[in-house]
Amino acid sequence: MISKIYQVFAGESAGLAFACGPGCASCCTRNVTLTTGEGQLVLDFLRDTGRTLPELPSDLVPLRPTLTTNGLAECYLAGREAPAESESPWLFEPCFFLEEGRCSVYPVRPFACRSFVSTVNCGESGLAEAPDWLVTLTIVTNQLLESLDRGGCWGNLADILPFLDGGAGADSRLAARLLPNLPLPGLLVAPAEVRMVKNYLTNLGKATGLDFGGLLRR
Ligand code: SF4
Repeated sequence: MISKIYQVFAGESAGLAFACGPGCASCCTRNVTLTTGEGQLVLDFLRDTGRTLPELPSDLVPLRPTLTTNGLAECYLAGREAPAESESPWLFEPCFFLEEGRCSVYPVRPFACRSFVSTVNCGESGLAEAPDWLVTLTIVTNQLLESLDRGGCWGNLADILPFLDGGAGADSRLAARLLPNLPLPGLLVAPAEVRMVKNYLTNLGKATGLDFGGLLRR
């Protein structure tokens, strides 16, 4: 199901001319966050291709947000200020799956990587650009991936993978770095975007067999 969601998201932006391409890896840093469901796809891929989890650096503290996407959405929808990110600096070291400028887990790269796209060369400009509607679909997709992974967790790639790899005996320090996935508090969609998001939800429903029809009644 996760792969189908990835495919539908990619289909929505297929008509855009992105500057991203093979060997372009400016956004491949240690700031990738994902759900445990997505992380399991990465672990399965490593196992199926005869690989094991790479040695993960313990000297650097990766991005560890204090709220999941649905946690943030809950704050915004309630009109509350989101808490400041106190101990989660962005870490711009290269991702540990980057090999000679290319992603070594590309077929199963997390949604965060799929949504890091830009219509301008961000390696040159220092900034990524994407249309607002795509940013909205990215947020909606993150919300859905989290809510569909009930009982799972969300966190940094460097924490999620060893946590999953450790099974029942996973280090409790790793577990403490993860956040529980939350149910949908509602979708973060502006009134002008409701129709566009409804179409997206319809496409997701057709691809996954799930009913997303009731999520946006406006
Ligand atoms: S998982 Fe792959 S696409 Fe994602 S940041 Fe790492 S190298 Fe880049």
